[in-house]
Amino acid sequence: MNWSAEPRSALEARARTVIESPAAPDVGRATRVLIDEVSCGVAFQLEACVRCGQCADACHFYLVSGDPRRTPIYKLRPMFRAYRRHRGPFAAVQRMLGWAPAELTAAELAEWSELIYDSCNMCGRCTLACPMGIDIAGLVRRVREAMSAAGFAPADLYKAAARALDSGSPIGLRWPTLKRQIEIQEQETGLKLPLDVEGADYLLVLSSIEIASFPETIGALAKIFDQAKLSWTLTSSGFEATNVGVQLGSRDVARVLVSRIVDAAQALRVKAVISPECGHAYTALRWEGPNLIGRPYPFRVVHIVELLDQLVAAGRLRTRGKDQRRLVFHDPCQLVRRGGIDAAPRRLLAGVSACCAEMPSSGSANFCCGGGGGVSAIHRAEPLRFAAFKCKQQQIERSGAEALVTACANCRNVLEEALDEHGMVLPVLGLSELLAEYLEPTAPADQTGTRQ
Ligand code: SF4
Ligand code: SF4
Repeated sequence: MNWSAEPRSALEARARTVIESPAAPDVGRATRVLIDEVSCGVAFQLEACVRCGQCADACHFYLVSGDPRRTPIYKLRPMFRAYRRHRGPFAAVQRMLGWAPAELTAAELAEWSELIYDSCNMCGRCTLACPMGIDIAGLVRRVREAMSAAGFAPADLYKAAARALDSGSPIGLRWPTLKRQIEIQEQETGLKLPLDVEGADYLLVLSSIEIASFPETIGALAKIFDQAKLSWTLTSSGFEATNVGVQLGSRDVARVLVSRIVDAAQALRVKAVISPECGHAYTALRWEGPNLIGRPYPFRVVHIVELLDQLVAAGRLRTRGKDQRRLVFHDPCQLVRRGGIDAAPRRLLAGVSACCAEMPSSGSANFCCGGGGGVSAIHRAEPLRFAAFKCKQQQIERSGAEALVTACANCRNVLEEALDEHGMVLPVLGLSELLAEYLEPTAPADQTGTRQ
């Protein structure tokens, strides 16, 4: 179905039926959606598992707990059982003979909700470890579709989705707040930030966490784009890049949120949308988005790190001086494992750091900060998230980092909280802000806008 042909109101109405979860979780609906999620490709993956257990050693939730229920493959059991009972080879015969797996129960799904949401960041580390090429993180994403549709998702994610549909932001942030932050950054930088400029080359969308916790990033990017003479704009509608629909596991919600950005980009006729320092926003917009709306975008999507790397390579950005601390890059899972973006941030960091170092198992084998996949938004998951941070903590300690640098505002927030919880004093920096700090100063513009 071409969803883009549907009016926005119909898309929004369907999304709202998801967040208004049933008063009593509906196990029959969960089973039906789970079965619907099993395409031929998914069935092939479920059948391909050879029970080798390699995915277990890739998962920080299993490594820190030793709990076999937290192994990646166990998290897929509800899907496997529903598939085997209803769709697998000779399912009807197996049911008749009493050999088929039992129907799922509400109690089991309630227990699995904690495994599927609280103890999975959809980070994809297990996916890379699986010798059979099973995309475990991708299948967890599909299990979440069933959980959310049937009322088994955490209340915090339903509420975040409701706020996103109502206000545009999962934390309830609205345009007047962003407008105020833009004004503050204009005062800080002395630059006029472009807003709703039709025909600009690039549209910069932002994450709520950046706007609320790290608004200096907006000013930093304004300085960078000013030096690069980039044609860009912010937007007053569709400015939110994050997509709680992906975390909740609801394509209906995710589709509405992606559509808002697509509509804004099309209205402004931009050539490209810049995905900001946020991991899952990049996955949602770049990889899931066109499938969600049922058509290719009439613009490109570029992550901010990719764009900055291109601008440096083109000689449009120049830096002066270097940070003398031992700086270590934390790879956001969605950038490095889903997007393959590992060299670009390191090139950028090397340009402004006299002493970059690596964590053991960095790059595509990096451990998640623990907050990805919506886990940081689930209040009940906090103790588990802090416990799972042990794997990341060991990586950080072995790197000898004097400061961490990352390219995801959510990672940054989660790392700061976890470091604090574990009594570690370590700054966590945003890559764009760091780059802006070392930009070669440009001559101030005179009244006519001409540089001296
Ligand atoms: S996606 Fe990450 S958190 Fe989830 S099961 Fe796999 S390794 Fe564990
Ligand atoms: S690594 Fe792959 S094949 Fe091995 S148990 Fe995990 S999912 Fe199955």
